[in-house]
Amino acid sequence: EPSNDFIFRSKLPDISIPNHISLTDYIFQKFSSDGDGDSTTTCLIDSATGRICTYADVQIYSRRIAAGFHRLGIRHSDTVMLLLPNSPEFALSFLAVTYLGAISTTANPFYTQAEISKQAKDSAAKMIITKRCNVHKLTNLQNDGILIVCVEDRYNDVSLVDGCVNFKELIRADETELPKPEILPEDTVSIPYSSGTTGPPKGVMLTHKGLVTSTAQKVDGENPNLNFTGDDVILCFLPMFHTYTLNALMLSAMRTGAALLIVPKFELNLVMELIQRYKVTVVPVAPPVVLAFVKSPETERYDLSSVRMMISGAATLKKELEDAVRLKFPNAIFGQCYGMTEAGVVAKSLAFAKKPFKTKPGACGTVIRNAEMKVIDTITGVSLPRNKSGEICIRGDQLMKGYLNDPEATARTIDKDGWLHTGDIGFVDDDDEVFIVDRLKELIKFKGYQVAPAELEALLISHPFIEDAAVVAMKDEVADEVPVAFVVRSEGSQLSGDDVKSYVNKQVVHYKRIRMVFFTDSVPKAPSGKILRKNLRARL
Ligand code: AMP
Repeated sequence: EPSNDFIFRSKLPDISIPNHISLTDYIFQKFSSDGDGDSTTTCLIDSATGRICTYADVQIYSRRIAAGFHRLGIRHSDTVMLLLPNSPEFALSFLAVTYLGAISTTANPFYTQAEISKQAKDSAAKMIITKRCNVHKLTNLQNDGILIVCVEDRYNDVSLVDGCVNFKELIRADETELPKPEILPEDTVSIPYSSGTTGPPKGVMLTHKGLVTSTAQKVDGENPNLNFTGDDVILCFLPMFHTYTLNALMLSAMRTGAALLIVPKFELNLVMELIQRYKVTVVPVAPPVVLAFVKSPETERYDLSSVRMMISGAATLKKELEDAVRLKFPNAIFGQCYGMTEAGVVAKSLAFAKKPFKTKPGACGTVIRNAEMKVIDTITGVSLPRNKSGEICIRGDQLMKGYLNDPEATARTIDKDGWLHTGDIGFVDDDDEVFIVDRLKELIKFKGYQVAPAELEALLISHPFIEDAAVVAMKDEVADEVPVAFVVRSEGSQLSGDDVKSYVNKQVVHYKRIRMVFFTDSVPKAPSGKILRKNLRARL
């Protein structure tokens, strides 16, 4: 590796991270026999029912559920799919799987049958934990021998679902039956799906070591750069199946002994009412939620003064929006974090540090501690100095182990020197602050949700009257980006734009729906066959 690389590091000193222990040992370390945590404090609050679980409850319940999973045949390295909305059951199931040395793969509960099947098969899931309302989408998988565990919908009786295991029964399992599997730092613990810089969604193998490191980078040490404390009440309406929530919020909250207020679905007025009722101190958001707060005339009706910290991530937040939301939460420090499923949190605002640094609006933070960042020229690959834009690369123990069953995609993303190429274009300024200015990769982000063009293109060309197709992002005020398609019809075909849309849209979750169709004679491609997306975006 050239020694003249420009490498950026955190302003905070590195810390020693106990990443040789298992994820559950790490996050509950405070509550172990030699820890100083009070396990009667609140860990989870279910906003739907008002139910509270203390740290003691969460550990006991998840260990019992783990014993129940074990009895159902789940062993070390087996994969379990969590197909659940935000709920205490989500957190408990994740921990239970982790205790067994098994692996969770998380999916959006609104996925269509086809999307669920694809991920369940690709990840070789042995069991799916879901709600009753989703069971009808799983019959084919059940016929293939995948076990279904069903969490009650609030007003329904689960015992009525044929062939499913009742989640409630598992909580009654005997904790002493829980085996003590040997868990190694490099063992995979979680497989969220992400398309990364190119191609369809892929399983992202996150290890115990990776998630421990990623959590520690945010909340451990003397001067943590995201100082959650045991007194915090953290609002959790962002989807738990996404790593931003699972890793940056849930695990960080548990490590610090904070309370997580779980909200199944974002509704602005309900959320404001919850902030007031539970005196919420930390509000993690994504840009569309910031927009909702800024536009709402009703923020005045609620007492939002308990909020001391608001964190935005998952997509670009415009400076104007950041300035406007500050006015609505006068007592809150506002800052961004920038992350990626494959790399955890990459940069985080130092406005959150115990001794905060001055930060600029529009910046998405400073590189996380115990990691290295560089910015490279997108053509030559040469590393660039401050204030020059290029592709952001990140290196450290927090990175994924690789893509599941896809060594080629892994090698394209993490180079031989251990640098993960994010596909994001940005620069580091004179104060070490990171600014994202563009995206090199093809990924489309609808309200922060991933839409992989390659996945939609594969569906489009499976249509008998479509010769070729390309999907690109179109700018949108509310969603930030929406997918639109360029389609080449086969000769003589009368296929309409609506035909194309309905063909694709019934097969995908709502945010992947194609919004507009443009017919064209050919899809512009480089000699290598790569779609020239910039060229198509320019036509919009
Ligand atoms: P995901 O893996 O779904 O978290 O998506 C990761 C991608 O979201 C990043 O590579 C960025 O393109 C984008 N992203 C995440 N956080 C930010 C941010 N604060 N500002 C701009 N883009 C972001």
